[in-house]
Amino acid sequence: MTQPFSLAIHGGAGTLVRGQMTPEKEIAYKKALELALDEGYKLLKDAASAVDAVAKAVAVLEDSPLFNAGKGSVFTADGTHEMDAAIMNGKTLDAGAVSLIHGIKNPIALARDVMEKSDHIFLAGEGAMQFARSLKYNLEDASYFYDEFRYQQWQEIKGSDSFQLDHSVKKESKFGTVGAVACDQQGNLAAATSTGGMTNKRFGRIGDSPIIGIGNYANNKTCAVSCTGSGEYFIKGVVAYDVSCLMEYKGLSMSEAASEVIQNRLLNIGGDGGLIAVDIYGNITMPFNTEGMYRGSRTSFGEKKISIYGD
Ligand code: ASP
Repeated sequence: MTQPFSLAIHGGAGTLVRGQMTPEKEIAYKKALELALDEGYKLLKDAASAVDAVAKAVAVLEDSPLFNAGKGSVFTADGTHEMDAAIMNGKTLDAGAVSLIHGIKNPIALARDVMEKSDHIFLAGEGAMQFARSLKYNLEDASYFYDEFRYQQWQEIKGSDSFQLDHSVKKESKFGTVGAVACDQQGNLAAATSTGGMTNKRFGRIGDSPIIGIGNYANNKTCAVSCTGSGEYFIKGVVAYDVSCLMEYKGLSMSEAASEVIQNRLLNIGGDGGLIAVDIYGNITMPFNTEGMYRGSRTSFGEKKISIYGD
């Protein structure tokens, strides 16, 4: 018997209140999530690695304009798009991350190339772009990333000092990062996360998403985690690694550890958002302390679920 395998994805957490989104929009989000879930799961079913599955699922979400990553990335204060992404292999602890990149259709592919084709783990800004050019990445022009909805989001706060997270009805609380975690047929784990960050961000702001151990982490000893939420607080709480530590050092189960971090520790320091996690038995947990989180999961035990709101 092969070992259980599973995949979970998210498209961001936030003030997602039932009834406040049009039925058409809700269907569009669910369809996009399902596509990413199915594409990633198909790879796992065909005995591909967890790294392949999370990279694929995140790339599909990056190609959708609905999520704040890749094509749907939000506008910076300068009217540009700056993207961050990270990927980690739980078997080897190899990791790759990029930050403050632009013009790259799939930032997660570049993060994976940093992991597999460089001697480094984290490349940022112009250096990351040089690395991409050395690998002959095509650079998309600004029109590829243009989205009217994102543009209007930016117009509302352009010129002010405030910056804004993505996704939700209430403007103050919107997170639209995407992520995936997987356990493959070999029992190996991986996590991937990708984001456009926050609307109107300035000063080379980097959130939690590309930082290994904070927005993204995988370790076969414990779990694989991808986060979404108010990045500054996730950084203060060292969130993804904290889940892993509670399992490794305190013996908590994955769902106990993830719930403790999201519902207590993060909330206590003022952070909001959620995470998805998977362990080597294929178990999945997806806690969030916001009203909703775009999410989906599929396991070899035959479960498949796509959800937006709190259940
Ligand atoms: N965590 C992301 C950031 O702070 C935002 C998000 O989850 O949408 O950049």
